[in-house]
Amino acid sequence: MRRVVRRRRRRWRKGRVAALLLIAAVMAAGIGFLIRSGGTKYNSVNRKLGEYIVQANEGILSKDTGEKMKKSLYVPRKIDKSKKLIAFTFDDGPSRGKTERVLKALEKEDFRATFFMLGENAQRYPDVVEKVCKSGNEVSGHSWNHPLLTKLSNDQIRNQQDKMNQAIYKACGSKAVSFRPPYGGLNDNVKKIIDGPLVLWNIDTLDWKTKSAKATEKMILEKAQDGDIVLMHDIHEPTVQAVEHVLPILKARGYEVCTVSELLEAKGIHVKKGDVVISAHQIK
Ligand SMILES: [Zn+2]
Repeated sequence: MRRVVRRRRRRWRKGRVAALLLIAAVMAAGIGFLIRSGGTKYNSVNRKLGEYIVQANEGILSKDTGEKMKKSLYVPRKIDKSKKLIAFTFDDGPSRGKTERVLKALEKEDFRATFFMLGENAQRYPDVVEKVCKSGNEVSGHSWNHPLLTKLSNDQIRNQQDKMNQAIYKACGSKAVSFRPPYGGLNDNVKKIIDGPLVLWNIDTLDWKTKSAKATEKMILEKAQDGDIVLMHDIHEPTVQAVEHVLPILKARGYEVCTVSELLEAKGIHVKKGDVVISAHQIK
């Protein structure tokens, strides 16, 4: 009888230890599961919340660009109308260093120019956008990332201008004054969708192709006349050199280098959405 009780007790002890171990194992697994699942849950909630916030912001921004975003604060200077005027325009920037040197060269002669910026570069160098704006130069737009707009859907075209304006607005507090389509690529659809006048050029320095300061200077000094719009790019070193060299020469020849808005204002030209500006003598 005693033996049986002992055995039973032993079995019961063994059973109790096994049960305790089992309970401990179950609890450990449970705690582990809770920690893991808790962690996963927390992350997934956060990620979803993040996505939701981003989407909500995009919604607000797209509404803002359409209607609420301030038109440019830029006011053209009153230009002496008896002067010969040339609008200098710089595409594809802003860029660190080169744009700033162009600004310095302009300031030295008390000249101004128009900068057709890419949204993605405006986002990269907001301080340079601000410098262009604060120095009295004209901040205009050249799309978000330089696609040929005639190949894009209506929504994609709209998005190129909106996204660009968001970056410019963030940097200088107002959207681009006017728009220059990449490659000068235009059709009726682009004209209908892009908000504001479309500014092209009538003197192409081909600075992007020659990458030669001498060739760029020659093109400007031999071709540019009163009322012209000159195309350059403030992302190439030879272009900066050409600008630094050519501005005092143009001043000595009695020219005023100005922004596109100043040129149009001085010539009494009023442009509206869909108008294509090639020079002060040619508006389509
Ligand atoms: Zn371009």
